[in-house]
This record gives sequence, C-alpha cells and structure tokens, in this order.
Amino acid sequence: MSDLNILKNRPDIIRAMCMHNQRGSVKKVFTIGRYFRKKFGEDVYKVPLSILGFTCPNIDGTVAKGGCTFCLNESFSPNLAKPSKKFYLNPDSSDNPLLEKQLDQVRIQYRETSRRLAGKYGVKKFLAYFQSFTNTYAPIETLKALYEEALRQPGCIGLSIGTRSDSVTEEILDYLAELSETYEIWIEYGIQSIYDETLEAINRGHDSANVRAWIAKSKARGLNVCGHIIFGLPGETEAMMLDTVRESIAWGIDSIKIHPLYVVRNTALAVDYLKGKFTPIDEATYIRLLVESIRMLPPTISVQRVTAGIEDDSLLAPEWCRSKHEQMKHIRAALREAGYIY
Ligand code: SF4
Repeated sequence: MSDLNILKNRPDIIRAMCMHNQRGSVKKVFTIGRYFRKKFGEDVYKVPLSILGFTCPNIDGTVAKGGCTFCLNESFSPNLAKPSKKFYLNPDSSDNPLLEKQLDQVRIQYRETSRRLAGKYGVKKFLAYFQSFTNTYAPIETLKALYEEALRQPGCIGLSIGTRSDSVTEEILDYLAELSETYEIWIEYGIQSIYDETLEAINRGHDSANVRAWIAKSKARGLNVCGHIIFGLPGETEAMMLDTVRESIAWGIDSIKIHPLYVVRNTALAVDYLKGKFTPIDEATYIRLLVESIRMLPPTISVQRVTAGIEDDSLLAPEWCRSKHEQMKHIRAALREAGYIY
C-alpha cells in the first residue's frame, strides 16, 4: 500500500506534515540498527532486563516522593506493592540480600530473550539493556556484579544502562569508561525537557543543568549517550519541544529516543487528566514535530525510538497511543512523505 493510501483517512496528518521533500530524494533515517550494522557489520539487538530491587531516588524520597507524574510506581499506586517486606537498593548502603536472585534474573532474562531473538532474526550479538527504574542507583559493588554477569553471557558485546542524571557518580562513569575499552557501552539519560518549569511540573526531581552536566561528564569519558525526550509534557509549546531536541543535540548526545506523553491509570498525571488539567498531544502534532526533529539531527546521531504505546487497559489517553502498529504505520508514511525511510 502506498504511503498516501495509509494516510488517506488521516488528512490531519497529511496537512500537518512539515515541508514536503521537494527534491524527491529519499534518505534513510540513521536508526540504531543501522548504526550497529555499520559498526559491527551485522545486527545487534538490545536485550531488556528488569532487575528486582532497583528503585529510583524520585520514588524512595531521596530527591522526591511519588516519582515523575506519569510514572506508574508503587508510591502512587500502593496496590502494586507486595504485602511482604520489600528490599530496595540504595547507593549509600552496600547491603544487598538480593544479589544472587538478581544475578539469576540477569542470566535467565538474557538467555530467554536472546534465544528468542536469535531464533526469530538470526541475531548473534546483543547488548544487555538495564531498562527498568534507575539502573545506576545501587551500591557500586552490586552494579559491577550485575553488569559483569551480563557481559559474560553468550553473544553479549556490551551494555545499555537506563538511568537519571542525578544518579550517576564520577566513580560509576570511570568504571563504565574502563568497560568501554573492551565493550560497547551506552548510558541512557532521561532528558524529557530542557525547561525547568516543565521538569518541576512533572516532579522530575532534578533540573536541566544537572542532565547537561552529566551528559558532558559521560561524553568526556568517551561513553555513548542516548537522550530520552518526551513530547506533549504539561504546559509545553511546540517550540519548547523542538528546543529540547535542538539543545540535546548541542549537548552531544549520540542517539535519541522520542515518545509522546500518554496517561496511564493510577498516576498523578491521570488525576490531572481526569480533572481536565492536562490534554495529551494529538497524533498529527506529534508526528509533525517528530519529522521536524528528525530533520534536525546530524547524520551521526542515531534514532532509537520514535514513539511509544500501550495496548492494555492501563492506558487512559490518548487513544492513538493504544496501537503501536498503527502509530508506526502513520509515522513511517509521514517520514516517507518528508523524504525519509525509517
Ligand atoms: S525517573 Fe523513571 S523510574 Fe523514576 S519516577 Fe521518573 S519515570 Fe519513574
């Protein structure tokens, strides 16, 4: 089906798309897949890991309580908590009764996902992706044990570590820089917005200067940095969203993830939404801004994510974030119209 056919029922998206590709040339978006193929000569897939005991300083009260307003976490939704006593990692204490379980989780999750990906796509190389919560917010001994266990798994050529900029230390970055002499090491920071008033509105618990400083420290050590950005944050104009992309590029990120803010039940954002205090971004605006963002990227910055959706009942709004498949169809078509292949 042609791209225009895909969009034939969505004149809003066609209208909203930025400048048509007037020269008629088609460029490939430099996706992370293309980055890996260029660097390693073959496909490399990320294996997401979710490790018990990790939490976030924005949830445990260290910098704030409740977490980001859009984050579904136990402090806002106590029903999620298990009735028994729970242990959470804390960088100030080397106590970790969960370590053996955590190491098992690394092995089991890595094995299951890497085998499935190898069977489906024939991939042989992987990055262990420490994804859930704040994956540097733990005693350094625990981090070293978990990261090194991941690196011992078959086919694992490196790590990607999702975290907050207020939860890394010079010691952690020095250690990651040492690993990066042998392995492919990425650190993923939530930037979300460069505007402090927005970061306050979402209860982020740190300001934009903090993100900028730790990206600079990571880059100074030669680490690969991926920045996460959200479009449609409360109170943000289109110009503010594009400013965040522009500024993140200037900060030296190597890769970018962008997604729309959607409302999940049992979050602070859901309360605002239900009171009429928050309106989610519409699909046409999101896609137009995304295409503009991709136009802004220099050819060295790879793209790791262009949207996000959630297909279950936890999604409150907007409805267009329910089907990732539909979103991707519209995004690919819009990009194609703008002269890009995703
Ligand atoms: S930083 Fe991440 S884990 Fe922590 S509250 Fe915000 S969204 Fe949740």
